[in-house]
Amino acid sequence: MLVSFVWLQLAPGPGRGRTERKKAPQTAGATMVLIDPGHGGQDSGAMRNGVLEKDLALDVAHRLERLAQKRGFETMMTRRDDKWISLARRAAAANRERNCIFVSIHFDEGARAAATGVQTFYAAQQAPKSSIPSWLPFLQPALGEPGNIESQSLAAFVQEAIVARTRAFNRGTTAQQFYVVANVRHPAVLVEGGFLSNDEDIAKLTTEGYREELALAITEGLVQYRDLAGVRPATLALGDASPE
Ligand SMILES: [Zn+2]
Repeated sequence: MLVSFVWLQLAPGPGRGRTERKKAPQTAGATMVLIDPGHGGQDSGAMRNGVLEKDLALDVAHRLERLAQKRGFETMMTRRDDKWISLARRAAAANRERNCIFVSIHFDEGARAAATGVQTFYAAQQAPKSSIPSWLPFLQPALGEPGNIESQSLAAFVQEAIVARTRAFNRGTTAQQFYVVANVRHPAVLVEGGFLSNDEDIAKLTTEGYREELALAITEGLVQYRDLAGVRPATLALGDASPE
């Protein structure tokens, strides 16, 4: 309840906002991917020897955008340069869309230098799919609903594709109520693409070739998810209370 309330407070009215949209030219009605490079601006995220998580995330995000467009996705990004964006604005950008897939890109650091590999997170409970006011009890999703199957599947496809392509250590998929995935009402995942605190991981991550492979793998996961999910039906019309 609190989550929906906060979301309703933060969600802006109709309008595109400042998130830039890029269309793949040949594909009308293509699935939208909202790419979210973690951190930015004064928030560097993890860091090691001058390598900053925010820079790696932005680089992989730009690669992912280019590759996803090649595969027929429309794309948007929550940031295109080194600036700070609140978590609320990142989630709101996704929630302005009728349908989209949300992919947040991060890198990790561990207390132990040995910690390595890739992990993909999803939220077991997400914001409601429609913007129906949360005080309408008969339209509420059941509380304590078991896992969010769409995001969980998306996480599995992305994780498997990354491990298959990069041979990174497989840390699996994990349900975690991270703000950006929990407050998005569409399929949403957060990828932790390696550890800046691990010598081997950082050696790979600082090469362009590896970052390109990582972006390519995430794209492959998105394609597999899209092919399986097919065209998602439009969000319940009742939910679209605002005029457009
Ligand atoms: Zn991060």
